[in-house]
Amino acid sequence: MDTFEEFSQKLASMEAKGRGRMIAEQKDHCVCSGCPTYNECMREKSELCYCILGRSPTCAFEKKGCICPICPLKMTLGLSRSYYCIKGSEQEQRVHTHLKKDT
Ligand code: SF4
Ligand code: SF4
Repeated sequence: MDTFEEFSQKLASMEAKGRGRMIAEQKDHCVCSGCPTYNECMREKSELCYCILGRSPTCAFEKKGCICPICPLKMTLGLSRSYYCIKGSEQEQRVHTHLKKDT
């Protein structure tokens, strides 16, 4: 099991309150707000940590670059993808890759 899988399992095993606290802690390290793709809609809704929470539910995007590769959480959580706000969470992107390989 890799670092991200361990993190996901830990998160899934927590009560809602603890999970919320843990996600809030990760948000403190998210650098999305400094990204060229991060727009007013995302800022207004204070959206962060797409890598964990998945793509933005309501905002529309224009790809202008992704700074996830320089985010401190990349190392801490063992992230390997990017453009989470558009493509979905790390977990979703991993599942998608596996499905593609299997077909
Ligand atoms: S990896 Fe990207 S989406 Fe995840 S916390 Fe860092 S900047 Fe935000
Ligand atoms: S997920 Fe990547 S592209 Fe989207 S706002 Fe965060 S850093 Fe930018």
